[in-house]
Amino acid sequence: MITAYHRPQTLDEALKLLAQPNILPLGGGTLLSHSQADSVQVVDLQALGLNTIKKNGNNLEIGATATLQQLLENEALPAALKSALKLEAPLNLRNAGTAAGTIVACDGRSTFVAMLLALDAKIEIRYSNLENRMLNIGDFLPLRPRGLITSITIPLNAKIAFEYVSRTPADKPIVCVALAQWPSGRTRLAVGGYGKAPMLAMDGTESEGVEAAARNAFHEANDEWASAEYRMDVAATLAKRCAEKV
Ligand SMILES: Cc1cc2nc3c(=O)[nH]c(=O)nc-3n(C[C@H](O)[C@H](O)[C@H](O)COP(=O)(O)OP(=O)(O)OC[C@H]3O[C@@H](n4cnc5c(N)ncnc54)[C@H](O)[C@@H]3O)c2cc1C
Repeated sequence: MITAYHRPQTLDEALKLLAQPNILPLGGGTLLSHSQADSVQVVDLQALGLNTIKKNGNNLEIGATATLQQLLENEALPAALKSALKLEAPLNLRNAGTAAGTIVACDGRSTFVAMLLALDAKIEIRYSNLENRMLNIGDFLPLRPRGLITSITIPLNAKIAFEYVSRTPADKPIVCVALAQWPSGRTRLAVGGYGKAPMLAMDGTESEGVEAAARNAFHEANDEWASAEYRMDVAATLAKRCAEKV
């Protein structure tokens, strides 16, 4: 249950509030506003101006409170990332759900976060006016450390591809594969559709081996939606298609 609601007007004010125990940042509130057993206070981030999306050289800096729909409509966003965003949530949720809230709350079926993992997105977290740190999304996901995410940065110079298989075309994936390849040849493969977060299957100097990496990532991925054997076969095929696309 939400027991107190704060809407600070400055980042400084928000950080001071968030330094107290049992008080959480509120993005779109699509998850946080669900009834829950614990009492929490929330700090609404909407007045802080953290919803900008800026191209900066070869990077795109996504403000933490940019909504998923705002991102989808941004012309700098690559088409494969747009496909992944459309699957993340339906329109009404995309209009409210924020980039940071989606990362913090994601499970393994998050297509947006699978794509961010392939792109080796950098997450800026602030603790106070003096203290901040940048974390690679691969380091952020297992820990989901406290702190206020202020921005997420992705490269725009990587070619990317996204493929998925699901029960219906607009459903969450049973298996999804996201591949990013930089001009240097560096290739990162992330897979989703299972578990607590999308998984990094490969970070190599070339695309050789993506099929085997995708297959290996799902070795123990049995759940109510599919067997590990099925996921391993499908992931290898999807990874091959992604590699052909880039
Ligand atoms: C009907 C419905 C169906 C849904 N289905 C799914 C689903 O299938 N799969 C799924 O993964 N999710 C699902 N969700 C959850 C939700 O829509 C997404 O995870 C959403 O995008 C969360 O974004 P938000 O901005 O609304 O987060 P909020 O609800 O505002 O916050 C979610 C979490 O992120 C934290 N947070 C928010 N912003 C920040 C920040 N800047 N820095 C640090 N922490 C922050 C909050 O403190 C909270 O812990 C569903 C929600 C609804 C209402």
